[in-house]
Amino acid sequence: MRAPRTPTRHRAREAIRLHGRFYSAAMTTLFISDLHLDAERPHITELFGRFVDEQARKADALYILGDLFEAWVGDDDPSETGAFVATKLRGLRDAGIPVYFMHGNRDFLLGDAYAKRAGVTILPDPSVVVLHGRPTLLMHGDTLCSDDVAYQQFRTQTRNPDWQRQFLAQPLEARVAFAQQARTASQTRQAGLKAQGMMDAITDVTPATVDSSFARFGVDTMIHGHTHRPAVHAHPGGKRIVLGDWYEQGSVLRVDASGAQLTSL
Ligand code: MN
Repeated sequence: MRAPRTPTRHRAREAIRLHGRFYSAAMTTLFISDLHLDAERPHITELFGRFVDEQARKADALYILGDLFEAWVGDDDPSETGAFVATKLRGLRDAGIPVYFMHGNRDFLLGDAYAKRAGVTILPDPSVVVLHGRPTLLMHGDTLCSDDVAYQQFRTQTRNPDWQRQFLAQPLEARVAFAQQARTASQTRQAGLKAQGMMDAITDVTPATVDSSFARFGVDTMIHGHTHRPAVHAHPGGKRIVLGDWYEQGSVLRVDASGAQLTSL
């Protein structure tokens, strides 16, 4: 079983400082994840564009907690979806609304070049930020699924900087082919888990890892995505808010001084 990485004190402080600079008690902070944007669901990309132009413009900050894209094979990929999203997020940033991005298991190769182009700040996973006075743990959520040993091994391999350098040095077509293969392998594995009745247990968070995370990070609130099971859970250590995916509709968490609310678009 692999425990989530502990953020360095420096990183945690940096995230707090970044957020603190824009903190405003009267405003709403928005959280989204698992949009899985790609060319196959253009209406979801359009929905995201409208969400950014309308709702996010009124927020004090937007946090994207991973899997913004269905796949990401490098910042040099000339995809139309990537270009559209960069333009939308850049507009938000230019309007004075900070945008924070945390890597997911699909878009962990999203790099500094794209982040710069889109005007987003990459946050390490995990990060602790102060939201309306409350230290809150933010994660994509895949590290909480610590019972999924095969996935955690794949994660360790693909988050290794040497592996990433070698991967990104390959021609674009080879990287696209690898991503397609990884996707097919993941679908095959999920179908296998489903057939064995293991799908729910393996692909949801590991309760012991959740419980230990509250104490480890000194928080009583955590927000993550990844499992596509939107809900607010009460644990002995605190509240765990799970963001929803955007496969069929939009899902947004709004946090303001009065509390947190999960909504659909
Ligand atoms: Mn994910």
